[in-house]
Amino acid sequence: MKYFIIFGPPGAGKGTQAAPIAEHYNLKHISTGELLRAEISEGTPLGLQAKALIEDGKLVPDEVVEGMIAQAFGKYRDVDGFLLDGFPRTLTQAIELDEMLEARDEGVNAVISLMIPDSVVKERIAHRALLENRLDDASDAVVENRIQTYHRQTEPLIDFYKEKGVYHEVDSIGTIEEVAARIRTLMDTL
Ligand code: AMP
Repeated sequence: MKYFIIFGPPGAGKGTQAAPIAEHYNLKHISTGELLRAEISEGTPLGLQAKALIEDGKLVPDEVVEGMIAQAFGKYRDVDGFLLDGFPRTLTQAIELDEMLEARDEGVNAVISLMIPDSVVKERIAHRALLENRLDDASDAVVENRIQTYHRQTEPLIDFYKEKGVYHEVDSIGTIEEVAARIRTLMDTL
């Protein structure tokens, strides 16, 4: 199995790009944000716990998303690998992911980091709020919180993956098709 991570701040285009990329390379796309939103709409206890945190622009506890990932790894077997979207988001999650993969003699093959400045993040999220009715996109204060959460808790993963030699950057400014073409050009070399 191959393990790819699509990485970047909220609004960088991870979800938009991940689905077609996963299909093209026969990977299972796993978005922890989507899994959490499904729990919320089903009204599960986990969903109720996650809802308040997500609506505040905070991260849900590491163990919650790590459990979701472990479950997904066990569930999908007839794919060439996984494309993780929105996971890992903390150093603890990245280390846990490494341990999960090392236990099977595997590892992260590549991190594809979508590069976009904070100003464009805000524009894109405002646009998505209109299209998708996401509660965590609706308020400027929550969006600001998510951007700060990204810089504080998630950005340190860049150095973690650079040191492992698996970190790659893709410019995420441009049309969806332009960015998709850049990602495919990179993935074809991996
Ligand atoms: P996303 O759709 O990836 O932007 O995720 C939406 C929200 O779900 C995030 O702002 C977090 O509150 C939560 N979430 C998603 N993935 C994770 C993760 N790996 N760790 C912690 N919280 C997460």
